Amino acid sequence: MPQTPPAEQLRQAVLAARRVLLTGPVDPDGDSLGACLALGRGIRGIAGCEVDVAGVPAFRYAWMPGADRMVADGRVAGPYDLAVVLDGDCHRLTRPVEEAWRGAGRRAIIDHHASVEPAEYDVVLHDPRASSACEMVHELLVGWGVALDAPLAELLYTGLVYDTGGFRHSNTHPSSHRLAATLLETGIDHAGIAVRVLMERRPAGLRLLGHVLAHARYLASGRVQLGVVPLAVRDGCGATEADIEGIVDHLVFTTGVDIAVLVIEREQRRVKLSLRSRSDVNVALLARSLGPGGGGHPRAAGVAIEDTLENVLAALPAALDAALAPNGRAGPGAASRAAGP
Ligand code: 5GP
Ligand code: MN
Repeated sequence: MPQTPPAEQLRQAVLAARRVLLTGPVDPDGDSLGACLALGRGIRGIAGCEVDVAGVPAFRYAWMPGADRMVADGRVAGPYDLAVVLDGDCHRLTRPVEEAWRGAGRRAIIDHHASVEPAEYDVVLHDPRASSACEMVHELLVGWGVALDAPLAELLYTGLVYDTGGFRHSNTHPSSHRLAATLLETGIDHAGIAVRVLMERRPAGLRLLGHVLAHARYLASGRVQLGVVPLAVRDGCGATEADIEGIVDHLVFTTGVDIAVLVIEREQRRVKLSLRSRSDVNVALLARSLGPGGGGHPRAAGVAIEDTLENVLAALPAALDAALAPNGRAGPGAASRAAGP
């Protein structure tokens, strides 16, 4: 018997559910939020169930349709009949959301990261070629017969424009431009969205960007541009976590640099590394080599490390030298070596 396609499996799970939880990974970005809110809107269009979208949108996303009805992670309370994680896997959820996730009747994933483990989910929609989770959600909703209105288009455009860096990154495909055209036909203020999502900074965020750029330095014989955000500097600028988004993208476009690493001190013993590549260095592999749980896309990845900023910075030069060496875990040809013969 032919297997039911995943999109139909998910539709049936939605129609059978009374309560549905939608979530991105911790610190959702424009694509995670757009995908969750768009799917939530689509589900409400075809089913009568209650839909909770977990998370608190950062300031630059507060305008998104439905953002005001999101449920802060600490207030997420199961049981849910269906839980869907979008734009990241189930290993990067905050504790309360993870608990609700574990207790859900059925668990699904919609993701475009390469590292998905299908066995962990009841329903799997996985397309590493998709520019964004929003591109996948659009295809899903079209298949479900959901009408594309302007609020839905705004949500999907946010993810598309965020993950392609405004149609500049190598994950921009002809289908990304076709989707953009379809979304623009609903009359959305696409230029306004691009400004809010990619360009606009609060004054405190601009001060922080200035600090990071002024103190950036080179590692790995100049191949790596390193930026650091110590907690005291972030607070001193009057900035918050949300102001850090996008800073790493400024570092990587320095002439001669292959990759950028932004080291962010989040708490006393919690450091996050944001990695970007503009060469054949696969930063998803690099992130994985720097700590368990690290990963992402070949050209944009991250890893959380439970150690002090001081220790992380002390270990980084040698770790980068080793990973970027010709036979290192992220150096030339590493992706095919990791994939096996
Ligand atoms: P960012 O540096 O903007 O936080 O994340 C860049 C990309 O890497 C995104 O696709 C994000 O989902 C992914 N990413 C960020 N941090 C982690 C992490 O700790 N683990 C994994 N597996 N992916 C991450
Ligand atoms: Mn994404």
